[in-house]
Amino acid sequence: MSLVTMKYFLEKARKNKCAVGAFNFFGLENLRGIIKAASSKKSPVIAMASMGALKVMGLDVVVSAARALSQEYETDIVLHLDHCTDMDLLFMCIDHGFTSVMIDASDKDYDENVRLTRLAVDYAAKTGCSVEAELGHVGGVEDNIVVSEREALFTVPEDAEKFVNDTNIDALAVSVGTVHGFYKLPPKLDFERITAIHTRTAIPLVLHGGTGVSDEDFKKAIGLGILKINVGTELKVHGYFDVMKNTSLAVKDSDPRKVSTAIVDACASIVSTKIEVFGSRGIL
Ligand SMILES: [Zn+2]
Repeated sequence: MSLVTMKYFLEKARKNKCAVGAFNFFGLENLRGIIKAASSKKSPVIAMASMGALKVMGLDVVVSAARALSQEYETDIVLHLDHCTDMDLLFMCIDHGFTSVMIDASDKDYDENVRLTRLAVDYAAKTGCSVEAELGHVGGVEDNIVVSEREALFTVPEDAEKFVNDTNIDALAVSVGTVHGFYKLPPKLDFERITAIHTRTAIPLVLHGGTGVSDEDFKKAIGLGILKINVGTELKVHGYFDVMKNTSLAVKDSDPRKVSTAIVDACASIVSTKIEVFGSRGIL
């Protein structure tokens, strides 16, 4: 059991008419929770580290832990770098064994986005690492990338077709009505746009901002070409922070292991629920 490419898992998802969940981790406990859930559901998962998570955990620790947990739970996983805006870090992650990376140059103009994305694609070819890129802006807050909801731009299908041809990426993150973080109002997904992009590009599409999207909307989006769905905020808040806070207060004997176990279980529970909704149970 080891780290496999995103391309491999997304191909499986396409064949099985489902989507693969991509889950952010911030520490060893929730990485363990994600992989534990994947193993028990016999489902593919993509474990994602953001630039911020890497800074806190350390690159070598992340890669070693992902490999070790994949073996411990006897399940293949993807180790993915989420929203990378730093080319040197992206190259380093590829060199250290990440099997998937996201280059996020979506705040640049079209030509610069293509240039940086191609640099990532060319470098990743050395190891076979998969590459995701973004066209259009998915609004919200994620680590240090702040895109106001007002400025968020939806992906234009014609541009997406050109972008995919110009870059040769493995997956495209699209802006179709979701944002990062918690929604103030339920999101309205632009399903027609997803269909139009899917028809023109024929590559796996990625939905960011999965926290707060209804199960019904997820299923509809999957049927229209979304093959990877990112869930971050829900794990960060309900799978980690709230659990840490509440368990710490509830535990009377100051035993940190009880907090660790509670985080693992909470994350595994959230991920298991998403696996059922995304339809990926049993396909590994
Ligand atoms: Zn995202």
